[in-house]
Amino acid sequence: MLIKQVILKKRPEAVPSADNFEVITREMPQVHYGEILCRNLFLSLDPYMRSQIAGRHISGTINVGDVLQGETVCEVIKSKNDDYAIGDKLLLQGGWQTHCVLSPKGARKLDSCIEPASLVLGILGMPGLTAYAGLKYLAEPKAGDTIVVSAASGAVGSVVGQYAKLLGCRVIGIAGAEHKSAWLTDVAKFDACINYKQESVADGLDRLCPNGVDIYFDNVGGETLDAVMWRLALGARVVLCGLMSQLNSLERPAGPNPATIIKARATVRGLVVYDHWSKMDEMLNLFIPMIASGHIKYCEDISEGIEQAPAAFERLMTGQNFGKTIIKL
Ligand code: NDP
Repeated sequence: MLIKQVILKKRPEAVPSADNFEVITREMPQVHYGEILCRNLFLSLDPYMRSQIAGRHISGTINVGDVLQGETVCEVIKSKNDDYAIGDKLLLQGGWQTHCVLSPKGARKLDSCIEPASLVLGILGMPGLTAYAGLKYLAEPKAGDTIVVSAASGAVGSVVGQYAKLLGCRVIGIAGAEHKSAWLTDVAKFDACINYKQESVADGLDRLCPNGVDIYFDNVGGETLDAVMWRLALGARVVLCGLMSQLNSLERPAGPNPATIIKARATVRGLVVYDHWSKMDEMLNLFIPMIASGHIKYCEDISEGIEQAPAAFERLMTGQNFGKTIIKL
């Protein structure tokens, strides 16, 4: 029996096109003890695959000649594994191919009440979990928060917005087409949507979020992320989830890249010392004895006389000072 597979033919340098892939036909591999043969019914295509074929995704690299990876809903048509019977419907990494032979480690049997079964690849699968966990556990939403989500009509964004609505937030989507905006407001019941192809994100945010953005769920990075960041409200939370705006580029955009934060699951906090004034005594009690015992060192750059202030300030701003700049009067 023959199966069809899609392999990577050449790495794309920009937006991938059909030319970057090749559909090949090959003999079905043999089914060994412990393995199952499945017919793939639905294959999930996801943005992370663009990073896999660029060789920069945490889940691994697809090389030229490799079959593309991807989650599939499939049906077992031959089994040499006692835990799986013919007819079982599974969710597994079946790849871009009509059939797969594999040892079903990590496969999940599908709940027959999930209908259509393709939902386990979207809202009831990895993208839905991304939205749910990212919003609930990282964004800490509260009723009344204004939340903005980009790539809002996508698998992740559409769930983020709708779940946030259920939690009592005011939800603003960002999307790139009129029919997407209309679906988000009319069907998914977002409060509003910015169509960034018709209006700048900055203008849309100024219009719709005059008091700032409490939560930003970012699926795109780039200029959209920048525009929202300038409009964050006090105490805002930002969840960096996706990189749609830079996936097709070989060059990394200038400046701090959200990929670094996503990869490291890092937390970035803004600091304004005035919020911590009440901790002054706590700090003094800790540092005074440590300075006295020599466990903390300090360095002062002292000039004498008020006339020296301008020159000392110039030295400070050009890095010629060394330590805390002080004028002794
Ligand atoms: P979808 O494929 O459902 O939606 C993608 C949407 O992104 C497109 O429809 C388009 O919508 C928008 N888009 C495409 N290109 C650009 C661009 N150049 N600039 C701005 N927007 C663009 O994607 P998902 O919802 O599945 O994923 C959304 C993001 O979340 C992706 O970046 C994905 O990698 C990420 N993700 C991250 C996970 C994590 O663990 N951190 C897990 C799952 C997904 P429009 O027309 O509105 O611009």
